[in-house]
Amino acid sequence: MELEKILQYQKIDMEVYKIEKEYLQLKELENMKRILKTYAGKNNDLKQLDTSLTEALNDIERISTKIDELVSTKLQKLDLDSLTDQQSLHSMYKLISSYDEEVSALIKEAEKAIKRLSDIQYDNKRLNEEMNALNKDYSKNEASKKKKEIDMAKRLGPLSQQLKEMVKDTFDKATFEKYSTLRKARRMPAFVPYLDGNCGACGMDVKIEVDKKLLNAGDIAECPHCGRIIYKLK
Ligand SMILES: [Zn+2]
Repeated sequence: MELEKILQYQKIDMEVYKIEKEYLQLKELENMKRILKTYAGKNNDLKQLDTSLTEALNDIERISTKIDELVSTKLQKLDLDSLTDQQSLHSMYKLISSYDEEVSALIKEAEKAIKRLSDIQYDNKRLNEEMNALNKDYSKNEASKKKKEIDMAKRLGPLSQQLKEMVKDTFDKATFEKYSTLRKARRMPAFVPYLDGNCGACGMDVKIEVDKKLLNAGDIAECPHCGRIIYKLK
C-alpha cells in the first residue's frame, strides 16, 4: 500500500464525489418531488369533487322524484267538478296554497343543488387546468434533469474507468474496505493528513490516540472522533 497512490486515487474519486453531490443537489430533483406532492394533493381534491358531484346529482334526482310525486298526488286531489259551494272552494284554496309552498321549497332545494353542481364543475375545470400545468412543469424539469444527467455521465465515464484501473494496485483489501465504508457514508475525503496532532478532517486533537501509530511517513491511523484515516505525510 502506497500512500501516494491512494491519495492520487482519492483525488480522482473526489471529482466523482463532487459530480455525485451535484446530482443529489439538482434543483430539478427537488422541483419534481415538490410537483409530485402538489399533484397528489390536487388528485385528492379531484376525488373529493367526484364524491360531491355524485351527491349533488343524487340530490337533484331525489328532488325531481319528489316533485313528480307531489304533482301526481296533489293534482289527483284537485277535483274541479266538486267546486260547488263556499266550503269546498275554501278547502281547495288551502290545498292549492300548501301545494304551492311545497313546490317552492322543492324548487329552492333544486336551485341550491344546481348551484352546487355548477360550483363543482367550475372547481373541476380549475383543478384540471392546475394539474395540466403541473404535468407540464414536471416534464420540463424531467427533460432538464435528463440533459444534466447525460452531461454528468460523460464526465463520470473516464473518471470511473481510471479508478477501476487503479484500484488493484492502490489498495490492500483491508484498506479498501475501510475506504469504501467511509465513501459510502459520504465522509470524503476519507484519507486526511495529520496536522500538528489534529485530525485533518474533524480538527480534533488526536495526539494521545494516534501519535504513537504515526511514526514514519505513510503510516496511517483511524481518527477516534470522525473515523477517517489519518496519514502521516512526512
Ligand atoms: Zn477526525
